Amino acid sequence: MHININITNYCNQKCIFCFAGAELKTEQIPKNMSLATFSRILAAHTDNKQKTIRLMGGEPCLHENLSGFLDLASKKKFQIHIFSNGILNKETVALLASYKDRVAYVFNISTPSFQHNVLVRNRVMRLISHFGQITNVGVSLTITPFTTTDYLEDLKTVCTSIHNVRIGVANPIAGEKNSYSLKDFPRFGSVMVNIISKLRAMGYEKHIALNCGLTRCMFSTTQFSYMKKHVEYMGWSCFAKEGNIDVSSDETAFHCFPFSREYRLPIKGRSLEATSNKLFAHHMQIWAQQKNSICKKCPHYGFGADRCPGPCLAFQHNQ
Ligand code: SF4
Ligand code: SF4
Repeated sequence: MHININITNYCNQKCIFCFAGAELKTEQIPKNMSLATFSRILAAHTDNKQKTIRLMGGEPCLHENLSGFLDLASKKKFQIHIFSNGILNKETVALLASYKDRVAYVFNISTPSFQHNVLVRNRVMRLISHFGQITNVGVSLTITPFTTTDYLEDLKTVCTSIHNVRIGVANPIAGEKNSYSLKDFPRFGSVMVNIISKLRAMGYEKHIALNCGLTRCMFSTTQFSYMKKHVEYMGWSCFAKEGNIDVSSDETAFHCFPFSREYRLPIKGRSLEATSNKLFAHHMQIWAQQKNSICKKCPHYGFGADRCPGPCLAFQHNQ
């Protein structure tokens, strides 16, 4: 199970695809998580075999008490993964470097500043190179059918510092407008193959994984065979995300960001594992209620290994 703890709703970027958009806008929860809340969330994590947490936001490194969070999680022997955009000041970089044995990173390199501002891009790449020498560093890319990837060429200089690459789809937020339609789906395959082949051509040989939200019909047979050789994929669409839990500063949890404002559960009095199971069961109920006539006629449609359950539920919800 992946435990995502959203410690702040502040961010210094405005990604158009931001999966946390609904959370960042809401006034219903405290902007910053308190240390006391964080401590209770860690205590609700009762699985001693799996002691990893993921700090997310917003930009988690903007939390005013980041050192307090790192200290507490370290004392309780958690490994920490920080999901950051890497646009950080020197003091934060120095603080993070002092936790090098506990903390690994995934840097979002699809931010507007990374893509369009060469000074910021160079700064983030220096950070990748610096942290890549002392700990595990991955990068994440979020794609739409219209994503251009020219800026990826610059990653060549830091390829050897990166330990993994995650590629995700810009999933919509339930209740908002979809930014692409079903007829745009095949373009995702071309964007994906283009990114993978660029990474391999520039000498990146390590792990590439996919996030949830991809569907089988985004790929031609040739693209799918190429992709399978190069990436780890857990399953199509929602099936790539079983066992995720996101916990917010108000001590409520949800299963995925697009539905964060539609369905959440308080974690008080329950373990994170039990809460996650309940959230997942609810997610499956929503899936079972979908009436997607195109998918139901599709030979790939269904439940289980290699079956495609249809697009991101939030996408379907918005149609
Ligand atoms: S609804 Fe499914 S595909 Fe969409 S974000 Fe949630 S788990 Fe991922
Ligand atoms: S089930 Fe739907 S989303 Fe999945 S491959 Fe078939 S048509 Fe595409």
